[in-house]
Amino acid sequence: MEKIQVTTHARAELIDITREVEKLLVKQTMKEGICYLYVPHTTAAITINENADPSVREDILHDLSRLIPWNGSYTHGEGNAAAHIKSTLVGSSVSVPVSFGKLALGTWQGIYFCEFDGPRRREVFVQIMKNE
Ligand code: ZN
Repeated sequence: MEKIQVTTHARAELIDITREVEKLLVKQTMKEGICYLYVPHTTAAITINENADPSVREDILHDLSRLIPWNGSYTHGEGNAAAHIKSTLVGSSVSVPVSFGKLALGTWQGIYFCEFDGPRRREVFVQIMKNE
């Protein structure tokens, strides 16, 4: 298993990690398979979405915060219940097909690490599995 280190700079932030994932793939000899990405954190997540227009990232963050405000009537004593809820909604893993040795992402797709309780140092676990 490989790991990608991510340093976040805000409480909520979407960070494009597509390049970092591609760098790990280049080291492999695998041509066909699956790249499985997993976030081992309870207040962060991972998703795939448009990486051409940065306003998409802003809209996602803005509307998640509108739906799940930081200051709500939560019972979790640590004060970051909103981040836990966003983490569960967005999800802790994604899988991307690998074809001809490259991520088979759509033209406009990128892989985003989603920070919901930063800034912090985070990691993404990467498991690259070869088709038999
Ligand atoms: Zn908490």
